[in-house]
Amino acid sequence: MRNGTFDLHCDVLSKLLTGEATAFAGTGSEKLDVTYEKLIASDAWLQTYAIYLPESYPSTFSSILQCVDLFYRHIASRAEVAFVRSAAELQAAVDSGRLGAMLSLEGADGLQGDFTALRILYYLGVRSLGLTWNYANWAADGVMEPRGGGLTRQGRKLVQACNGLGILLDVSHLSESGFWDVADLTDAPVIASHSNAKSACDHPRNLSDDQIRAIIAMGGLIGITFVPWFVSNKETVTIDDLLPHIDRILSLGGEKTLAFGSDFDGIDRHMTGLADPTGISPLRNELEHRYGDTLAMACLRDNALRFFLKQLPK
Ligand SMILES: [Zn+2]
Repeated sequence: MRNGTFDLHCDVLSKLLTGEATAFAGTGSEKLDVTYEKLIASDAWLQTYAIYLPESYPSTFSSILQCVDLFYRHIASRAEVAFVRSAAELQAAVDSGRLGAMLSLEGADGLQGDFTALRILYYLGVRSLGLTWNYANWAADGVMEPRGGGLTRQGRKLVQACNGLGILLDVSHLSESGFWDVADLTDAPVIASHSNAKSACDHPRNLSDDQIRAIIAMGGLIGITFVPWFVSNKETVTIDDLLPHIDRILSLGGEKTLAFGSDFDGIDRHMTGLADPTGISPLRNELEHRYGDTLAMACLRDNALRFFLKQLPK
C-alpha cells in the first residue's frame, strides 16, 4: 500500500460545483488545493470528498446530486482512483495502492428532512454525514448558531437512520449541545473530521477536553485540521503550531483517535508550508521526529484505516 495519508475532509467538490475549478486534473484544476496530480506527487493515499453546498446555493437534494455527479465524473471515474464504500473496498484499495476516495455530506440542510433522499445518498456511496454546517437547520444547530440548541426531533431520527444504514456521523460544525445529543443517541462511534483542541486554540469550531474524552471513549476519530485560525491566533501559522493540539489529544489518551482532516479547498488562507497535499511530507518528518514512526503513521493513516475497516459496511 502507499505510505500515505488518510485525509478526512476536503472541499474539492464545492469548487467544482461553483465553477471555481472545472477539472480535478490538468487544465481547469489550477484553483484547487487537492488535484489528481498533487495527490499522486505527495504522500496522499485516501481522500474524503465532502459534499458542501455554499450558502449561495439552494439547499436542495438536487444540489447535493450535482455534487455526487461531479464526484463520479471527475474523481471516482479515474482508473487510478478506488471509490471506497465498504470495508472490502477499503482493503482492496490498500492492497492495490490506488488512491482511495470516500464521499461525505457536510450539513444535512439539502436533505430537507427527506429520509428517502438519505437512503439514496447511501446507495450512491455517502458513508459519513455532518448534521450541520455552522448554522441551524432542520436537524440541529451548528456551532455558530447563537442559541446553541441541540438536535431536533427530526435530527434524532436522522442519527438513528444513519446508524441503521451504516452512515457514520461527523460532529465537526455541530453545536456543543448537539454533540452531546449525538453522543447519547448513536450506536456507532463518531468522527470529528476537521476540528482541533480548544485548549490549544480557543475557537468555537474546536473540541473541548470533555468532547475529546467522549470521542476517545467511544472509539471515534478526530481529524486535526490545517485551518490556520483553528490552529493558532498567530499571524503566521506553521506545522509547529499543530503539535500542541496533537499533544493535548495524546495527553487525554487519544493515540488511537488522532487523524487528519485538512479542509483543503475549504479555506482561503493556508498554514505556511501546508497548502496542499504536497505539504504532508514535511509534516510527516516533523511527526516522526517528535513522536516516532509508529505514532506518526497512526496519526497520518493507520488510526483512520483501522477505524473505517471496522465501521464501514462489510
Ligand atoms: Zn467544514
